[in-house]
Amino acid sequence: MGHRNMGGSMTKAAPAPSRLRERLLRWYDARGRDLPWRRRDGVPPAPYGVWLSEIMLQQTTVATVRGYYGRFLDRWPAVGDLAAAPLDDVLHAWQGLGYYARARNLHRCARVVATDHGGRFPDTEHGLRALPGVGPYTAAAIAAIAFARPAAPVDGNIARVVTRLRALDTPWPKVRETVEGEVRALVGTRRPGDFVQAMMDLGATVCTPRDPDCGACPWAGACAARAAGRAADFPVKAPRRAKPVRRGVAFWITDPTGAVLLRRRPERGLLGGMMEVPSTDWAEQGVAPEDAPAQAPAGGGWTALPGLVRHTFTHFHLELSVLAGRAAGREAVDGVWCPVGDLGAHALPTVMRKVCDHALRFG
Ligand code: SF4
Repeated sequence: MGHRNMGGSMTKAAPAPSRLRERLLRWYDARGRDLPWRRRDGVPPAPYGVWLSEIMLQQTTVATVRGYYGRFLDRWPAVGDLAAAPLDDVLHAWQGLGYYARARNLHRCARVVATDHGGRFPDTEHGLRALPGVGPYTAAAIAAIAFARPAAPVDGNIARVVTRLRALDTPWPKVRETVEGEVRALVGTRRPGDFVQAMMDLGATVCTPRDPDCGACPWAGACAARAAGRAADFPVKAPRRAKPVRRGVAFWITDPTGAVLLRRRPERGLLGGMMEVPSTDWAEQGVAPEDAPAQAPAGGGWTALPGLVRHTFTHFHLELSVLAGRAAGREAVDGVWCPVGDLGAHALPTVMRKVCDHALRFG
C-alpha cells in the first residue's frame, strides 16, 4: 500500500517481512533445488545429514559435494559410524574436497557428538557452536534446517541477496552484522529451515554474482538495488590485498626398489596430519638451491627436475621446485617408503599429488 509523503507524491511502503517471507517460500516450493540432503515435505531432515552437507559445502560447490555426500552416507550412515572410523579413512574419503582441517574437525565433531551427546546433535545454535569445526554460519544453518529454529545463517549467497535487497553500501565483511539482523527480521518461526534454504537458492540460481535474473525474482518489487539499477554493485567489497608467493623445495627420494619417501605433517598447522612428499619450509624468500639438500630427511645425488609445481592456498600462492635423489637403503628416517603404484592409497593433499605427478613426469 502507498502513502503520501510531505511533498505530496506517492511512495511505496516496504513490504512487511511476513509478505517477503511468504513470497520467497512460494517461490521455493516451486523453484527450490532438490538436493540429496534436503527434504521437500515440510519435515526437518536428520541433523547428521544437514551437518555433513554444511561442512562439505564450506568453500566447495554443490555439484562437487553431491557425490561425496552420497559416498560418506553409504559408508558411514550415522554419526556413530563416522566417529568409529579411523581418521585416515575419513581423510582419504575427503580427498578432493580440500581444506583438510575441516575433515579432521568433522571426525572430531562426530566423536564429540557420539561420546558426549549420546549420538544426538545439540538442538540449539548455542549448543551447536560448541562443537569442533562448527562456526556461527554452520550452527545457524543446522539450527534452522534440522531443528526449525529461527536462526540467521549468513553465507555468501545470503549476503549477496540481502545487501542487494536493502542496497547496503557498507563493504563486506563489515556489513555482516547488519545482514544478520535483516535475516533475523525476515526468517520468522514458520518453516525457518525452508526459508534460509530458499535464500541460499535464490542467491545461487537467481540473484547470482553477475547478471542477476531480477525478472525471475520473487523479491523484485521490494529490491532497493534493482530499483536503483545497481544490483551488480552489491555486496560492496573491501579492497583486496594481493596474496604473497611462498617458495620451497620438495624432495622426491627413492630407495633401490623405486619406493618413494612420504612422511606425515605435524598435526597442527596447514595440511596438519596429512601425508606429504618431504620439503623445505615454505617461505617468501625461498631457499637457495645449494642450501636445500641440508633440509632433506634422507638421500643424495640430487637432480633438479625442470619446471615448478604451483598451488594456491587461501592465504598464499606456493611454488615448489623438486629435487630427485636416491637413498642407499631404508635408512632410519621418520616416514614410509611407498611403492609408486600405491601412492593412491595415501591421504595426500592436492598440492602433494601435484608434486608426485610432476616427479613421475620429469623424474
Ligand atoms: Fe537480487 Fe535482482 Fe532479486 Fe534484487 S531483484 S534480490 S538484485 S535477483
